[in-house]
Amino acid sequence: MNVNADPQELSKFSELAHRWWDPGGEFKPLHAINPLRLEWIDALAPLRGRRVLDVGCGGGILAEAMARRGATVTGIDLAAKPLKVARLHALDTGVSELEYMEISAEDLARQRPGAFDTVTCMEMLEHVPQPDSVVRACATLARPGAHLFFSTISRSAKAFAFAIVGAEHVLKLLPKGTHEYARFIRPSELARACRAAGLEVIDLKGMQYNPLTGRYWLSGDTSVNYLLACSKP
Ligand code: SAH
Repeated sequence: MNVNADPQELSKFSELAHRWWDPGGEFKPLHAINPLRLEWIDALAPLRGRRVLDVGCGGGILAEAMARRGATVTGIDLAAKPLKVARLHALDTGVSELEYMEISAEDLARQRPGAFDTVTCMEMLEHVPQPDSVVRACATLARPGAHLFFSTISRSAKAFAFAIVGAEHVLKLLPKGTHEYARFIRPSELARACRAAGLEVIDLKGMQYNPLTGRYWLSGDTSVNYLLACSKP
């Protein structure tokens, strides 16, 4: 199978899928950061009326929130169980204008080039063997004038200390083995991949976390978690 995916990564997310919407469970950090990233996206590219693609959508935390803001959202992932959870959750909460598909970004790019006004790809690139290929596919899926939003974790000593030792071992915010250091991506590397895919970088923000208050906020420190916005000329 010539797919840009790591089967072990996908099964990790499938095994935990039933816990996806538990705000105190393994995906608590995604619930915690969701309002922050949603506001950031909505401010740079207002969601209402937009056709949005969410790549690596998992159980749909971001996809569903964007649909609630008035976007028509397609969520894609290669793990079957999180998608099942995402569909059930949308049925449960009655959010329409939301579809989920089990397909890679690369395959969808061949089927629907230029089909989306906004493409989001959050906390996913660090789980993929060839992140550049996903960035290229996202660029193809976006129409000229579209906005693209990526988030991932940088490869730095601080990221190792915070995202792996701190989050997985000390604070136990994430299950052990959630992240692999070698797969982390520096902002400069992601920016280079975006430019190589013909995109313009328009914003770069760090995401900070205070373990005492559980609060997340945007900052200029991109050495651990960060968000990068692009536009397609
Ligand atoms: N983007 C969501 C979920 C992040 S968890 C959010 O931020 O809320 C990472 C997700 O990436 C998981 O659902 C996992 O199944 C998915 N994923 C990992 N490798 C993938 C690949 N090659 N193609 C598509 N999805 C992938």
